[in-house]
Amino acid sequence: MPSYRIAAMGGDGIGPEVIAAGVEVLKVCAERDGGFTLEFTDFDWGSDYYRRHGVMMPADGADRLRAYDAILFGAVGAPDIPDHVTLWGLRLSICQPLDQYANVRPTRVLPGITSPLRNVSGPELDWVIVRENSEGEYSGVGGRAHKGLPIEVAQDVSIMTRAGVQRIMRYAFRLAQSRPRKLLTVVTKSNAQRHAMVMWDEIAAEVAAEFPDVTWDKMLVDAMTMRMVIRPQTLDTIVASNLHADILSDLAAALAGSLGIAPTANINPERDAPSMFEPIHGSAFDITGKGIANPVATFWTASMMLEHLGEPAAAARLMKAVERVTADPALHTPDLGGRATTRQVTDAVCEALRQAND
Ligand code: NAD
Ligand code: MN
Repeated sequence: MPSYRIAAMGGDGIGPEVIAAGVEVLKVCAERDGGFTLEFTDFDWGSDYYRRHGVMMPADGADRLRAYDAILFGAVGAPDIPDHVTLWGLRLSICQPLDQYANVRPTRVLPGITSPLRNVSGPELDWVIVRENSEGEYSGVGGRAHKGLPIEVAQDVSIMTRAGVQRIMRYAFRLAQSRPRKLLTVVTKSNAQRHAMVMWDEIAAEVAAEFPDVTWDKMLVDAMTMRMVIRPQTLDTIVASNLHADILSDLAAALAGSLGIAPTANINPERDAPSMFEPIHGSAFDITGKGIANPVATFWTASMMLEHLGEPAAAARLMKAVERVTADPALHTPDLGGRATTRQVTDAVCEALRQAND
């Protein structure tokens, strides 16, 4: 019987609250399935660790994570530490060395949840956004000189490589091919960003030739925001650069009802290092410690993790249990307009899993 080693890292704010809920639900998943076991190891890296050690994680942190089959991650960010320190010190310092170059963000309107878009429900909004997760606008290259002086200059260099764009494009076409509609939208800003983004468009056309059964089109990112709102039914799989997809996926999360339900997976498709699964949301200081964080995003990403580990039946069972729970407005947390607590939602999902009769 396979046993999977999971690194559980709550991080900051509501991160530890939703990850505790996720671990609890995953344990019930494994019990209920009976075909595999999960072994969790807790990592206390994050802002508290930073206050004690001056770094968000040990220098060999990413390497230590290589021993695990997957990483379940909460969120980072604290009011007293600059966001670029926490983000680069932990999340990006894990994704980049472990080469988790495909950030995958499914978006659906789950049962019982209302989209802010009029007349849009489940089948009309069913997308997967694929975000390039290793280079581009978040390459980390840049600098700042003459700080505070009138001649101050600052730059963040966006680096796009042929190999980097090719691999994310192949990943996106393959994913689009695996979905019923076989439809891919390639997002760029190639009218204004005339070097790297033009290369994106060219590589998209080259890779498209390898996937003749996938229908694809191109969109400029600004027009894309309108299309997502006005004609959501025309979209299925979407691929975009690190920055563009970052922004589009927050919009997508809001259109699907709440940031509190939106999951993401940082995938290393070559599987030579573990992939990392996390809710899209951040540490949400405004609700930390109140016991009302919505754990659904974490449960959904936990389902993606089970799928990635090679346990599709358990993954589907978990998603079904989550949907049974979201269908009941009495089990909605305040971000969805309800009054339920993290505890109640977690218990309900565990109960639904135990009752699952597949
Ligand atoms: P946020 O996602 O933390 O919160 C935005 C709003 O959504 C808040 O009102 C919050 O209460 C609500 N919300 C978020 N998740 C929720 C959940 N599960 N249940 C209910 N409500 C939820 O974004 P922010 O306020 O812009 O950022 C706060 C901190 O988080 C910052 O330090 C930021 O850098 C960090 N952040 C981290 C990540 C990450 O770790 N991947 C992502 C985004 C933001
Ligand atoms: Mn973001």
